Amino acid sequence: MIDAKNTKIFLSGLLLEELQAQCVNGGFEVYRAKQILDGIYREGVVETDQIRNLPKDLKEFLNPAFQVHNLSVVERAHSKGDHSIKYLFRLSDDELVEAVWMPQARFKTICVSTQVGCPMRCSFCASGQVRFKRHLETHEMVGQILAIVADLEKGERPGHIVFMGMGEPLLNFENLLKTIQILKAPWGLGIGARKITVSTVGYVPGILKWIEAGDKLNQVRLSISLHATQDKTRSRIMPINDQYSLSKLWATLRKYSEETGRLVTFEYVLLKDVNDRLSDAQALAKMLEEIAHSVNVIEYNEVAGTGLERSPRGEDFVAELRNLGVAVTYRRSKGRDIEAACGQLRGKFIQKTYGGLRT
Ligand code: SF4
Repeated sequence: MIDAKNTKIFLSGLLLEELQAQCVNGGFEVYRAKQILDGIYREGVVETDQIRNLPKDLKEFLNPAFQVHNLSVVERAHSKGDHSIKYLFRLSDDELVEAVWMPQARFKTICVSTQVGCPMRCSFCASGQVRFKRHLETHEMVGQILAIVADLEKGERPGHIVFMGMGEPLLNFENLLKTIQILKAPWGLGIGARKITVSTVGYVPGILKWIEAGDKLNQVRLSISLHATQDKTRSRIMPINDQYSLSKLWATLRKYSEETGRLVTFEYVLLKDVNDRLSDAQALAKMLEEIAHSVNVIEYNEVAGTGLERSPRGEDFVAELRNLGVAVTYRRSKGRDIEAACGQLRGKFIQKTYGGLRT
């Protein structure tokens, strides 16, 4: 959790035992670590010298070497319709990432990014058009949540975290796992594992690591961005499918279901004349017979330059799935006015600031 550029240690990337070791190494009592973390996660303090009840010499120890996180807000886009706020953050190496506050859901939710850019290049996604730069560190993922909470009215906190922002979370597995540990911990954000969702395009090695992780990811929700029922269509919109075809993905998900006993959530974004025929709904229902599931059918937020359009057949598609006994939720697209699809606010900011030269 040390930043190579300025050699700060980021407190939001440390586990309790790691901070305890830092305190002891600095000559302070072990219980001081919990006091520091209470300041960050309970009281929302973002500067170490504002943490209450710390002695002066501990504040002096923390102040030059430690920092809570390294994110600064560059832009906020407020949705008039549903009160979502999309944030664009600058990191210490000047890279930009997005996160979204969504207060309208059953649980107030924050959508977190896991990479700068994304190597998966899904054709419907604005982030897929951004060249992959690097994985986010744990403190940069936890930092997105802390920076949003600090920006909201006092007392507002997320009840649910979804890893559905920029990037493929399972490519950044170790940092993701540590981030989830901090989110769940009673000394951290204290968010229940069932209220944490990780979305993947179906990166098979990552799902296998998830199965191996056992208790560490127990009860965390796995969500698969499926979006097609045939390899040809899926490969056209999601290049990952060339490497991990539907049959490989299904074999892995069967293993996941058997070993964890958990439901899999499937996301299916409806694209006009690509995956929105009734025969696609029927094929989807057939595939899902093998795996305990819930399905979200999602209205598409159009992204310039993709050539893909929102389907007008959403109601019929969902009705067909329901007739076939599929547990499905139809998610009407929110936040069109705040460039809600991941990567769009970042793209717009870069266009405005750099004339689109930087991706
Ligand atoms: S949908 Fe997700 S995995 Fe695909 S390009 Fe966008 S951010 Fe990456």
